[in-house]
Amino acid sequence: MVVPNCGCGETVVIRTVTDAFNRNFGKKLWGCRHYRNSSDKGCSYFKIVDEDDVMDERDLLIEKQKLKIEKQKKKKKKNKFKSELSRTRQWLIMALFFGFLCFGIVLILGTILVCKTTSILSGFYLK
Ligand SMILES: [Zn+2]
Repeated sequence: MVVPNCGCGETVVIRTVTDAFNRNFGKKLWGCRHYRNSSDKGCSYFKIVDEDDVMDERDLLIEKQKLKIEKQKKKKKKNKFKSELSRTRQWLIMALFFGFLCFGIVLILGTILVCKTTSILSGFYLK
């Protein structure tokens, strides 16, 4: 069955007319999710529910199940994203560590090189 959309672009909900002066009193109708009265936010969309269009318990259950599956799918996606993020972080830490290691080696080699050059220079000066 098709759930109609209201002016807000959202799926509507089933309401029961509780206004005793309304000629549709007691009837079920599709109404805007946000609808309370005309001054409230939300549009004033409403449509009387056809007898053969009424959502029965089974349809409601199916809708709920669909929502549940959708939620679980979203959760799985989120978890995947999280694990990917932690993996990226691990790589980043490793790269950082490697960088520091290279930097240390270069520093030591540089110091040795500088010491050698100075010793050569001092040897030159001593001549
Ligand atoms: Zn609406």
